[in-house]
Parts: sequence; C-alpha cells; structure tokens
Amino acid sequence: MTIEEIPTEGYERVVHCTDPASGLNAFISIHDTTLGPALGGVRMLEYGSEADALADANLLAKAMTYKAAVAQTGQGGGKGVIVGDPSEKTEAMMLAMGRFIEALDGAYLAAEDMNMNVGDLETMARETRWVSGLSRARGSSGNPSPLTALGCLIGIQVSAGEIFGSEALSGRHVAVQGIGAVGGALAQMCLKEGAKVTVCDLDDAKARRFADAQGATALEGPDACLSYPCDIFSPCARGGVLDAESIEALGCKIVAGAANNQLAVPEDADRLRARGILYAPDYVVNAGGIINIACEFAPEGYSEEAARERVRGIGPTLKEVYRIAREEDISTAAAADRLAEARLAAVRQAGPQEG
Ligand code: NAD
Repeated sequence: MTIEEIPTEGYERVVHCTDPASGLNAFISIHDTTLGPALGGVRMLEYGSEADALADANLLAKAMTYKAAVAQTGQGGGKGVIVGDPSEKTEAMMLAMGRFIEALDGAYLAAEDMNMNVGDLETMARETRWVSGLSRARGSSGNPSPLTALGCLIGIQVSAGEIFGSEALSGRHVAVQGIGAVGGALAQMCLKEGAKVTVCDLDDAKARRFADAQGATALEGPDACLSYPCDIFSPCARGGVLDAESIEALGCKIVAGAANNQLAVPEDADRLRARGILYAPDYVVNAGGIINIACEFAPEGYSEEAARERVRGIGPTLKEVYRIAREEDISTAAAADRLAEARLAAVRQAGPQEG
C-alpha cells in the first residue's frame, strides 16, 4: 500500500494511492480545508489515462470548496477518484480505499459519487471513520436527493421572485430535464405549488409514465425541454447542457436545476446574461445534498427537520448572489464564485479558529 504525494499548486494535498494486493489505483485531492474537512464524493471511472483521472479529481475538489463555502457547511473541498472499470470493483478495493482515507486522518471526508453506492461506502467505513452519507439506520444522513430537490425548488422560487416579482409558482411553467431521483421529486414539488410541469428524459417511456401518473406533460427526446417555451428550465440530468448553441435556443426566462456543471464553459454564463436569462448557479441551488451531509456532524446528531431548515438557507444565499451580480454588473456564476472566495478570504484572514 503506497501513498505518493503529488505537490500541486493551489491544493493543500494531492495523493496517488496504489495497493497492488487489491489492484486499487486512486487519487485523492484535498483542495482546501480552511472552512473544515474536505468533503467530496468518491467516483470510479475508466479514464483514458492517470493524468485524466488526476485532473478530474483536482477540478472536482476545487468545485467542492466553492460549493461548501457558499452553502456554509463548515467543510472544505476534496474528491476521490478510483481509476478502473466499475464492473471490476471489489470489496478488497473498497477496504483499501478506506485505509487510504483513514491515513489522511480526517482531512478528507468521503461521500457517494458516480458508480459508487451506499454498500461501497459501508465497506470503506469498516476501515475509516471518515465516510459520510451512510444509511439513516446507522445515524447517518441517508439519501440526499429529496433535500437536493427542496433546495432546487427554493432556487426556482427565489429566481421567479427576481424575474416576475413573485415567488409563487402557481400558473408558472417549469420544464424539467431528467426525471430521476432529484428531477422527479422536484417536478412533484412544483406541481404541488401549482406550476404547470413539462418533463423530458433520455428514457422517453420513463418521462411518459411520470407525466401520466403526476399530471405533467411529457416531451419526446432527451433535450426537448431546452427549447420548449416555458418560464423556468430545470436541468436535472447531466452536465454541460448550457453551451453556445443550446443557450441560443432556450425558450425560458430562468435556468435553475440540480445538474452539476451545467455550463459547458465559464463564458456560457455571460451568454445567458446577454440573452436576458437568469441563471441560478448550479452549485448554489443543488447544495441540498452536501448540506444534508453536514447535518450528520451536528453535536446533537442528524435530524431531517434541522437539515430541511438549513437547506432553506439556499434562498437567502441565492438572493445574495443575485445582489452581487447586480451591484458588480457581473454574471450570476461569477457572483457565486466571488461570494465563495470572500468567505474563504475572511476565514483565512481571521487565522486559525479556536475550539
Ligand atoms: P438520477 O440518475 O437519479 O437521474 C437522472 C435522470 O436523468 C434519469 O432519469 C436519466 O434517465 C436522465 N438522463 C440521463 N442522461 C440524460 C440525458 N443526456 N438527457 C436527458 N435525460 C438524461 O440522478 P440524480 O441523483 O437525480 O441527479 C441528477 C443530476 O443532479 C446529476 O447531474 C447529479 O450530478 C446532480 N446532483 C444530484 C444530487 C443528489 O442529491 N442526487 C446532488 C447534487 C447534484
């Protein structure tokens, strides 16, 4: 079992973890722990090269620092990446990953991400305390999707207030792309608030079934919601949906949804602004999941009601982002980054905190 340090500018600690006995080959990137332990999911993917895997870990770890800073979870940003075919994942690899996480002594706090499940996390947890997002039966925070959906609903309401002068969704039209764990729950919440809801999904039959059961309308085709005339487009499927071409075709006035990394490139935030479309930055409105995890660490233990209350804080945070964007005449995405950087700078300036 070997841990090789990879000095990386702008990162606190990046390590390459190899365990020949189990075949585990992984990178753990700790971007910043100014605000607390570096929380971030572990994913497993077949990368083109180790360099690609390392770059992915570093990019995602930095994004987690910003997301946690804006959500005020008291955590920093990190990421774990296992290089390999997920169908070849073994218990021995998960145990080895747990030992590597333990060796980082709490600086990195693991959670679930692509191609990992709660069972994998529970296997890692046999070797380390530093795993979050386990089942509620174990006193952990459980499935984050309902709380992520709640945060997105709040993001949609605040954005509606900004554009239409009222946060009420009654009579508004919301188009949701991706009727999965988050998108499905969010679409139901919007219907309950009196909105008209249109859905689409990679799986047309799934979208149709959802629409029939819930009283929504289904469109054929995975990207059909993008250009559909509506008030709010809510991307809840995949990243990179907003690029020069799709932004030109958007039929909405607001984009607010759960998908990570919605902008194909940072300049897309300015393209949305130029079109007069309000963009609720993805990492601000989809923070319900990490807020839920942060609630595991409350001294009194996890409580869903406390978690829901903290997720409601996404509303004031998003208003703050919109205020910064207006006052500084910048895109809402740039405003969210500024808010994160200001929070990090304030704590760095104050120096180490006692207690
Ligand atoms: P999910 O896998 O449960 O659902 C995704 C849905 O999107 C599925 O119905 C799938 O068929 C559909 N889909 C996949 N690719 C598509 C495509 N190209 N076009 C249209 N539809 C497509 O996932 P989820 O947990 O609901 O997460 C949705 C998004 O939100 C992801 O981008 C995820 O990273 C992000 N996110 C989720 C959480 C959470 O708590 N689950 C938290 C933060 C961010």
